Amino acid sequence: MSKITEQEVLEALKNKEMQVYYQPQYDTLSKKLKGAEALVRWFRPDGTLVMPGAFIPLLEETSAILQLDWYMTERVCEFLNRQKAEGLTPVPISINYSRRHVQEEDFVDKLSQIADNYGVPRKLLIVEITESMLEEKTVSVIDLIRKVRAAGFCVAIDDFGSGLSSLSFVKDISVDILKIDRSLFSGNCEDEKERIVLESIFMFAHRLKWTTVAEGVETAEQLNFLKTCDCKMIQGYLFAKPMPEADFVNICRECDAEESGDYFEQLQDTYGALNLLLDAIMMCYPLIIMVNLSRDSYYMMAYDNFTTHTCASSGVFHELIENAVPSMHPDDRELFARVFSAENQLRAIADGQKYVRAITRQLGDDGLYRKVETTNFFVKSPYSEDALAITLSHSLED
Ligand code: C2E
Ligand code: MG
Ligand code: MG
Repeated sequence: MSKITEQEVLEALKNKEMQVYYQPQYDTLSKKLKGAEALVRWFRPDGTLVMPGAFIPLLEETSAILQLDWYMTERVCEFLNRQKAEGLTPVPISINYSRRHVQEEDFVDKLSQIADNYGVPRKLLIVEITESMLEEKTVSVIDLIRKVRAAGFCVAIDDFGSGLSSLSFVKDISVDILKIDRSLFSGNCEDEKERIVLESIFMFAHRLKWTTVAEGVETAEQLNFLKTCDCKMIQGYLFAKPMPEADFVNICRECDAEESGDYFEQLQDTYGALNLLLDAIMMCYPLIIMVNLSRDSYYMMAYDNFTTHTCASSGVFHELIENAVPSMHPDDRELFARVFSAENQLRAIADGQKYVRAITRQLGDDGLYRKVETTNFFVKSPYSEDALAITLSHSLED
C-alpha cells in the first residue's frame, strides 16, 4: 500500500469516510454496560479498513489531528442526541483528544458549544487525554484539565502505565477516571511483582477517588485478578471489541443501560480505615483476612505462625479456601470447606447471621496440628453494597 499522506486523510474526513466505532465498558462486578470509548475507523471507498495506528501519528505531526478529534466529538454528540430522541438511556462516551489540544485556547468553549448544540448533558462526555500528555507536566495541561472539569465534563487519563511519565503529576491533577494500560497485565496476571504493582495503582487511584478502568482485558484470569483489585470497569476483547454504532445500539437496548448518575459515584477505598482497626487487633489475631464475598476476592492483612506461607497476600477467595483445606486435619476438612464456602457465608448473611465460626485442627509449618478458631464476621461498608467479611483467626493452644 502506498504511503498515506495527511492530505489524503483530511480528504477522507471531508468525504465522511471516517466512522465512529464504540467499544463498550462494563462494570467489573455486575457486568452491566456503563459506558463506551469512541474509536475512529477509516473505511476507504473500496471497502478497505484503515486502523487509527496507521494515520493518527501522521496527523499528530501537525495540527491536522484537531480536525479529526472535533469531527469525532460532533459525531458522538449527534449519536447521543439520537439515542435520547429514540428513548434510550445514553451511557457516557469517552473521546480521545490529542496532546495538540493543549495549544487550543478555546478548547473548553468549543467542546461546550458542541455538547450544547446537540443537547448532550456534559457529564456524558469524557475527555480522554493520554498519559504522555502529562509528561510535559506543564501548567497548561493542568489548567486544561481543571477547566474541562469545571465546565462539567469528565476527564480520563488514558494509557496509564504505558509510558515513562512521572508519578509526580498525580499529586498535581484531579481527574475522574484512570485507565490502566494493558501493557501492565500479562496473560494471566500471576507474577507476584506485577500483581503488587497493579494492586498499588488501584489502591492509590481509589484513595484519590478516581474511577478505575482496565483497558485491553482479554482473559478470564486477568478479570479474576482485577476483581480482587476492586477495579471498577473493564474495557477489552474479553467482553466486547470496538463495533459499529448499530451494534452498539443493540447492546445498549439489551443491557438496559443506566444513566450515568451512579457511574461517577466514587467508592471510597475501605482498606485505609479498616487498617487502623486491624492494627489494633493484630496482636490477638495473627491471621486477619478481608474477604469480599461479592467479588470472590480477599486481602490478607497480617499473618504469623500459620500455614500461610504458600498463600498469596491477595487473590481469589474460593481458591484460598481450596488451598487451605489440605492443611486441615483430615477429619476437619469437610467442616472447614463447608462453613467458609462463599455460598454458606452469603446464605448466613441473608439469614441475618453476624458471623460464621469453626474450630479446626490446622497443620503448622513445624508439622504439628494446632486447634485454631476461625471466625468470619460480616461487616457492611457505607461505600459499597458488596458482601464483606473479616476473618479473625487465632490458635487456641498458645
Ligand atoms: P486507546 O485510546 O488506548 O484505545 C484503546 C485501543 O485498544 C483501541 O485500539 C482498542 O481497539 C484496543 N483494545 C481494546 N481492547 C483490547 C483488547 O482486549 N486487546 C487488544 N489487543 N486491544 C484492545 P485502536 O482502536 O486501534 O486505537 C488505537 C489508538 O488510536 C487509541 O488508543 C487512541 O490513542 C488512538 N485513537 C483512536 N481514535 C482516536 C481519535 O478519534 N482521536 C485521537 N486523537 N486518537 C484516537
Ligand atoms: Mg483512549
Ligand atoms: Mg488506552
